[in-house]
Amino acid sequence: MTRQASFIFSTDQLNYEFSDTHPFNQKRIVLTKSLLDEMNTIEPDEIVIPRTATDEELLLAHDAKYIEIVKKASKGEVSENIGSIYGIGTEDTPFFHGMHDASALLVGGTLTAIEEVMEGRSRYALNLGGGLHHGFQGKASGFCIYNDSSVAIKYLQQKYGARVLYVDTDAHHGDGVQWTFYDDPNVCTFSIHETGRYLFPGTGNVTERGNGAGYGASFNFPIDAFTEDESFLHIYKTALREVAAHFKPDVILTQNGADAHYFDPLTHLYSTMKIYEEIPKLAKEIAEEYCDGKWIAIGGGGYDIWRVVPRAWSHLWLTMKDIPTPTGRLPEAWLSKWQPESPVPLIETWEDPDDLYEAVPRKNDINEKNEQMLTRALHVIRKS
Ligand SMILES: [Zn+2]
Repeated sequence: MTRQASFIFSTDQLNYEFSDTHPFNQKRIVLTKSLLDEMNTIEPDEIVIPRTATDEELLLAHDAKYIEIVKKASKGEVSENIGSIYGIGTEDTPFFHGMHDASALLVGGTLTAIEEVMEGRSRYALNLGGGLHHGFQGKASGFCIYNDSSVAIKYLQQKYGARVLYVDTDAHHGDGVQWTFYDDPNVCTFSIHETGRYLFPGTGNVTERGNGAGYGASFNFPIDAFTEDESFLHIYKTALREVAAHFKPDVILTQNGADAHYFDPLTHLYSTMKIYEEIPKLAKEIAEEYCDGKWIAIGGGGYDIWRVVPRAWSHLWLTMKDIPTPTGRLPEAWLSKWQPESPVPLIETWEDPDDLYEAVPRKNDINEKNEQMLTRALHVIRKS
């Protein structure tokens, strides 16, 4: 029997922890699961324990030498000088004990999600522990050690012969995944993000369209700082519909960073919870239209772990379960359980308050600029 959705989860996913004070904090997975549990939306048989990725699987998208260095760093056997060559032991991506195992488990979780869907056990699958989109073949970057999406897409290609549409709505450009498949016409990478002008990693321009045979299978939608819901959603929906119709994927993998929200401390976009209600709905619709439903969703960034991520990520699961978008107050039990631990007052409703932020004076200019960007980004498709 096919389940509607699988929730990949184990508390071992919390072992991916750089330090007490690092912004990347997997506690957000627990906060999200707790919110969904309070709503009685996860059945015990829907929880699937993630497996660990093998070295052979990691090698699908990473260099042997890099994996060896991460393993040594896990035991404190790598100097800062050597580590920095591989992007680890840096301020963004510090060393931590057991970093290889913790990273390999996040990759394995995404592989577990893929197996659930591709082997027909589940229509959809969610691995909130994944989404480490900045990891490169031979280097860590931006809090990401191994790139679960890159490994997972290679795995989808090799084991299942699938054409994959990767959709990245994290506020940062999905650079690691893009560069891994830049020459590959059978993987389409789609990333909507805050322009790299002032934000890490600086790439993701509309002109990055792929290379050689892969030209035209890489799509970037860099939006301006201070972009609000309406423009974000217009770009996302228009672009995803056109790209999917053009590429015709067999399966869709979505990276669901929740750092485009106004509250997010690392980015400058002005989104509200509205986009996190809408993003999964269209992803599912596209998966139903082109992929016989095959949709795997993973986590990603998201640094306001109390006020933003639990609500935002819950919408992924609720969408997978065909549960109507909830409104009004969050479950009282969740609020009273977590408010004492939260350093900020929790938002107590599913929707954000109307007066979340002051009106953006340059709104029309920003929307117009985003619109021009969209036209340029889709030019390759529209002219053919
Ligand atoms: Zn991000």
